[in-house]
Amino acid sequence: MAVSDMQPETFTQLWEQVLEAVRSRLGSQQAYETWFRPVVPRHLSAQFVELEVPSSFFSDWIQQHHSGALREALKTVFGAEPEVHFSAREQDTLETHAIMEAALRANAADNSGAALANSALAAHHGTEHAGAVPAVIAAPVTPAVPADVSALRNAFAAMLNPRYAFESFVVGGSNRFTHAACLAVAKNPGHVYNPLFIYGGSGLGKTHLLHAIGASVLRERAAARIVYVSAERFMNEMIFAIQHGQTLAFRNKYRNVELLLIDDIQFLAGKESTQEEFFHTFNALRDAHKQIVVTADKPPKDIPMLEDRLISRFNQGLVADVQQPDLETRIAILRNRCAMEGDGARVPPDVLLLIADRIRNNIRDLEGCLVRLMAVASLMARDITLELAEEVIQQYVDPEPDHLTPERILAMICERFAVKTEALCGKRRTKTVALPRQVAMYLLRQLTDLSLVEIGRVFGGRDHTTVMYACDKVGGMIQSDSVFGEKVNGMISTLASG
Ligand code: ADP
Ligand code: MG
Repeated sequence: MAVSDMQPETFTQLWEQVLEAVRSRLGSQQAYETWFRPVVPRHLSAQFVELEVPSSFFSDWIQQHHSGALREALKTVFGAEPEVHFSAREQDTLETHAIMEAALRANAADNSGAALANSALAAHHGTEHAGAVPAVIAAPVTPAVPADVSALRNAFAAMLNPRYAFESFVVGGSNRFTHAACLAVAKNPGHVYNPLFIYGGSGLGKTHLLHAIGASVLRERAAARIVYVSAERFMNEMIFAIQHGQTLAFRNKYRNVELLLIDDIQFLAGKESTQEEFFHTFNALRDAHKQIVVTADKPPKDIPMLEDRLISRFNQGLVADVQQPDLETRIAILRNRCAMEGDGARVPPDVLLLIADRIRNNIRDLEGCLVRLMAVASLMARDITLELAEEVIQQYVDPEPDHLTPERILAMICERFAVKTEALCGKRRTKTVALPRQVAMYLLRQLTDLSLVEIGRVFGGRDHTTVMYACDKVGGMIQSDSVFGEKVNGMISTLASG
């Protein structure tokens, strides 16, 4: 039997049988808890089993160490040996690699591998393992796991990740509007903003919000029928259903939900028959006042090869975007993340500032960098210092193009404003040198990856707030004074062209 034919109950029971069979074959309860508990079955049948694991580290480990137990368990339950596929929920993060390397270096036996990985996962899946929250942290963090068992089971069936909840989402100027729209939809699904279309760049919280809506609705009503699905998976399920004569079951699954959360719809670009099927699903749900929430990397009209009728359906609801977070929001996200880690209080504020300052356009990288820093510090028994943070950050930011060195930028300023480098970087605050200095700060900020603190250092150790002020001021002047704007932009294009 395939997933689309089954009631969530049956599906869950079947998976529980598999788990039980695995458990009885594994020598250690620890190994079972570590490697099999986090697995989410996506497809279960005698021919084909698809298992979702938190990262590719999991699938590697299971295949290397426990494939025999898994195969036998599936054979016991299905009476046949299905083909097994793994899909990783998240790209392997650098910290899982760090843990894996450490485990391999120590030539760890299975159990110590499990213990190591457990600590990595505690770091990785913050909320589920949230221990004591250090008092110094301002942002409140509540575990997002619903207390009610049936809500849990339904969250499991809806494929929701308990880490992604409203409680763990940091609100700032870049996402305030969209967050409010998501809250409104979660409170009153099907009645406001239908569909809700969320778009924005990678790693800016779209999937997080989608899961948060699902979790929030389930918390209100454990029996709510919710499906979270990526557009890619929607397509794969559709193809599978067609191949196996199960289109009716497929349609029933998607057209009978109360809340459809569909992620990364841009994947459907150019996939005509999937768009067609989705269009009908969409209409069936909308007509029945069921809520649809869609995410994409661009607004509807900018998604290439998306049918006009779908674009116009999306535009009938509310289209809302998530933007790159500002510095304060980035710091708040890091603080929040620290609060989730048991020992997050160990990370000094200036290190948080440095990370937030350098990693600007992807929250996944922002958090990944912090978690990796903590993992590296504890694996190598080193203190979390600015120097160590610098090393870790290097792996997240692209190296500068050679020609955009600070020296070249300063030389350009000196030439265009007829000032001397010593004056530019010196202590004096006379008018003749103050503005060129501010422009220099602005250009260093725009064109290099130097942090505010590092830019301050270039100018004789000036404070990072001075640099921030200069950047804001020059940015404002470029807007308001076109002659000045042209002068600065002229310097930027000369510098950028090498
Ligand atoms: P997207 O789907 O837009 O690519 P995700 O929702 O997967 O991005 O977010 C990437 C990571 O960043 C996730 O771990 C998510 O929890 C985290 N994240 C994104 N936005 C926020 C936020 N505003 N507050 C807290 N964490 C966030
Ligand atoms: Mg996403």
